[in-house]
This record gives sequence, structure tokens and C-alpha cells, in this order.
Amino acid sequence: MKHTLYDKIWADHCIHENEDKSSLIYIDRHLIHEVTSPQAFDGLDIKKRDIWNKQSIMATTDHNVPTINRDKGITDPVSKIQVETLRDNCKKHNIELYDLDNIKQGIVHVIGPELGMTQPGMTLVCGDSHTSTHGALASLAFGIGTSDVEHVLATQCLNLTKDKNFKIHVNGKLKPFVTSKDLILYIIGKIGTSGGTGFTIEYAGEAITDLSIESRMTMCNMTIEAGAKSGLMAFDKTTHDYLKDREFLPSKKHYDNALKYWESLVSDESAHFDRTEVFDANDVEPQVTWGTSPEMVTPVDSKIPTPDTVTNEEEYIDTLKYMGLEPGVEINSISLDKIFIGSCTNSRIEDLRDASQVVKGEKVSSSIKQAIVVPGSGLVKAQAEAEGLDKVFIDAGFEWRDPGCSMCLGMNDDFLQPYERCASTSNRNFQGRQGDKGRTHLVSPAMAAVAGIKGHFYNVKEFMNEK
Ligand code: SF4
Repeated sequence: MKHTLYDKIWADHCIHENEDKSSLIYIDRHLIHEVTSPQAFDGLDIKKRDIWNKQSIMATTDHNVPTINRDKGITDPVSKIQVETLRDNCKKHNIELYDLDNIKQGIVHVIGPELGMTQPGMTLVCGDSHTSTHGALASLAFGIGTSDVEHVLATQCLNLTKDKNFKIHVNGKLKPFVTSKDLILYIIGKIGTSGGTGFTIEYAGEAITDLSIESRMTMCNMTIEAGAKSGLMAFDKTTHDYLKDREFLPSKKHYDNALKYWESLVSDESAHFDRTEVFDANDVEPQVTWGTSPEMVTPVDSKIPTPDTVTNEEEYIDTLKYMGLEPGVEINSISLDKIFIGSCTNSRIEDLRDASQVVKGEKVSSSIKQAIVVPGSGLVKAQAEAEGLDKVFIDAGFEWRDPGCSMCLGMNDDFLQPYERCASTSNRNFQGRQGDKGRTHLVSPAMAAVAGIKGHFYNVKEFMNEK
């Protein structure tokens, strides 16, 4: 029998197959943060249950934390309660917490891989849908709800129904200044936000194996926006090079065995996939979302679709009304109010390097009200500062912040005012995601940087050629 990568990880963690076709699956790694863990800990207390494997848990603060003036503490009362509750729970249960005073603090999906807590072949869960990010390291990773968080804390297991296998094969090479963010937006534009429903997606092909792990994480991160719970990429030399010397890797004694197992984490040749789609990287141009769903996306040098090209006219009219846009408008003519470079999709060192390359020697347009760069973790921030990237951004007029989710969803003080329009490197452009009545356009870090300089969308390829 030939097996896909997903089949292999599933089989290695299956404890018991139930009669109803679900299976009891062992969970190796559990990441927690302040938003979805309080009720789970309350549930444990009420039922007087203890935690099964504390060593499997990593806790961080990210959603509700301030990204500026941290010395003043958390001023928002709700955020303060969330974070303090996590602190109390971690202290009570002796769980290591990467809190605001720790350089390793950051967005849960940035620090897991960065610290080597995410490892190939692991099953990894977090009470957060963008847990799919960790699949870039050949780990079967998915978001879970609060009651499942409690269940994993107590039992280290979950009852799950197996997905079907979906392979997305991308041939060829991405063009200069076209990134994995553009590629995943392009793919979601093609298969739709329900295209991956019921599947685990494995990405393969030359364009994928060419990507760094940071770029692979961007794609797996947004896999959930294509409707799939998990995205996977095979283990290869790039994965191994990324992992080398990370803090939480297996000890020397166990490393060779671990590596041998990791090297098996690829789909067998001619393994069966229930669905396969093939794309060509050469077709991908810098992308911009124009609506309130990630599938509403188009190349930067194109126009807002006209009614005759859409399938759901009612949704289309509502979307354009919310976004304050007209049919047929050129994407390049859309002016922005705010620029946000950050989030678990695009806040890693490679993202900041990409954006700083654009920003270097330039100034943020006077029409932009605010442009912020929020590194994904304290370690990313320190690395960027060691490379002088902070100075590049600050000199250009960007604000240089402390790590957290920030304007991705506006649970802290960073959010859009009603009707403000933002070029954002995050993953969701739903109504109100970045603030009540806020208008979000999803783009790559380099595209967000250009939009900041120009004050409107502009093709990064042209900008860099002209520079
Ligand atoms: S950055 Fe955004 S998508 Fe990522 S974990 Fe935070 S809130 Fe969720």
C-alpha cells in the first residue's frame, strides 16, 4: 500500500478506530494562549481533573497584548483579565509561559516553530484556527475548540474523523517579488474558501520545494481560509536546515532516530489523493483582495470584478458596499489609510526583510494615517534589530512595535476606525475583522510596504524595477 504524508502521521497516532469511523488520536504538542484556554482550565477545575502531560504544552500571550508602551502594563480591562487568567492557570499547573517579559514571547504560530516545539511527524493542536501554519514542518496541525482544549489537557487525545487527501501541485518558479502569500491567495481565488473542506491539503511541486520554511508557513497558515483544517508540506533538506539547533529538538541521544523518522515523512510515489489540482507558479502575479473573503482576490494590475463576472450578485453588491468600492475600479487606484505588516501569516524575519527592501530610503506617503510593523516574536524583533531593519522602517515613517497579534484582529489597542482602509499582511478580510466597519485588503509584506510608500496599491515588481 502507498500512503500519503497525512495517512502516515494519522496511522502513527491512531490509538483506536471507533465503530462510527472516528478514531482516537494521540496529540503530541498542545499550544495555548489567553483567548481559548480560560474555560478549558475552569472545566478541569470543576471536574477536578489534572493535566495529562504538562511537558507537551507551551503557553504564550499574543492576542490581547499591547504592542506599544508595555511598561504601562495592559490598560484594557478585558485584555488584562484574559492575560492574568492565563498567568494564574500556568502558575497553578506549573506550565511554562512565554510572557511579556520574555524575549521568546510572541504569536503562538510564530514561536512554536521558532523554538523547535513544532517538529515533523507531530500531531499539534491549539485553540486557534491558524494552527494549520505548523504543517509547513510536516506536522499534522489543526485548530480546536475550547472543549477540545480541555479534553487534550486532560487526556492528550482527541476523537477525530479522518479527512480526505487533497494534493495541490505547483509547477515552475515564482517570479521575482512574487511571494508565497501571493501564491496562496491565488490558489484560494481558484479553489474558493470551501475548496478544501473535508480535506487535508498537501502542497507539492517545484514552486513549493523552492520555498523557505517561513514562506511555507505562510501557505499552511492560510490553508484554513481555503476550508481545510490542515495543510502539509513534506520533510526535506530545507526543513532539516530550518530545525537544526532549535531549542526544543530531541537531545543528541535521540536525534538520529528522530531524523530517520522525519525522513520518512513524505507521500509515497503514486499514493492515492482524493483530489489533485495543478497550478503554474509563472501565472501568479502580486495579489490584492478586494472583498470580505480571501477568495475575493485579483492581481494588483487588474480591476474590481464587474457584476457580469460574479456568481452571487447579492453577496457581491453587499461586499462592494461594505468595502466602499465600485465595479471595474482599478486596484492600483485604491487609496489606503493604514498599513499593517504583521500577524502569524507574515511577521517572520523573512517577511520583514522583504518589506524593508522596499522601504529602504523611502518615506511613507503623507496620505497614510498610520503604518505599523509588528514582529511575530521577541526573537524576530531582536534579529531584525540586529540587521538594522527597525531603523529602515522607522526612518521611513513606520512604527516599530512589540510582538503580538495586533491589528490582525484588533483585540488590543491596534485597530481600524470605521471605514478606514488597510493594506494588511494578515489572513482574514472578514467584515469587522480589523475593527468595526474597517476595510481590509490582504497582501504580501512587500506589497503592503509599497502601498505605504505610494499611498495606494502599486505593483511591487514595477516599484523595485523603478527603484
Ligand atoms: S495573528 Fe491573527 S490569525 Fe494569527 S493567531 Fe493572532 S489573531 Fe489569530
